[in-house]
Amino acid sequence: MSLRKIFKTKVSPLPQEWHHKGQVIRLSPLKRARNIKLAYDSKRDHFRLTTPVYVTKREIEKFLTHADSWFDERVQQTKDLVNVDHGSVVPILGQACQIHFQKDIKRKVVFDATLITVSDHQAKHLELLEIELRQKSLEFLTKKSHEFTAALGVSIKKIVVRDTYSRWGSCAASGNLSYSWRLIFAPLEVLEYVCAHEVSHRKHMNHSQDFWQTVASICPNYRKHRAWLKAEGKQVFRYRF
Ligand SMILES: [Zn+2]
Repeated sequence: MSLRKIFKTKVSPLPQEWHHKGQVIRLSPLKRARNIKLAYDSKRDHFRLTTPVYVTKREIEKFLTHADSWFDERVQQTKDLVNVDHGSVVPILGQACQIHFQKDIKRKVVFDATLITVSDHQAKHLELLEIELRQKSLEFLTKKSHEFTAALGVSIKKIVVRDTYSRWGSCAASGNLSYSWRLIFAPLEVLEYVCAHEVSHRKHMNHSQDFWQTVASICPNYRKHRAWLKAEGKQVFRYRF
């Protein structure tokens, strides 16, 4: 009999659910897993520990001790998550807006200064709101991009918004621009900076000194907005629909 088989018969199965620092961790033993891995599952709102099939309680405890600071950081991030709902306050284009859901016959979203009313008869308020916010984001980014295009005397083609995590915007050699729709949750000047940045790439397809001079010519405080994105940019991912 192999060691593994002896081991298997002696070990009682580990509990599927662990509690660690007030958080739920679900165990997910995988045949192919060689190491223990910990990840946060935002959809299900719990941590998932992927482990090899034959793992001991002690190994898990040792792993969790090593992952301590990572774990604390992730827990903090999950606390910051805002599950958008009736009554939530969300910054939209630099303005704190409260969200109201109501039942109605028509599907519509009304923006009224600091209030966003979402009417829907099939309780798809969140879906409807996200679609409208994406659209609003695209409209603003398009308007700004065209302003900067005119100022620099360059041309652009299609503008799209995407749900990107690793970049705020991009400019293809073809002249197509792409932005993260979530910029709508950032301060207005930050959105303007991202547009200024991408449109400036129509003059310089690099990040040379000449490029930054072009950015500065249409967005003088770009350094400040760039710093905001680096330090606070993650905030735009807090809002869940
Ligand atoms: Zn760039």
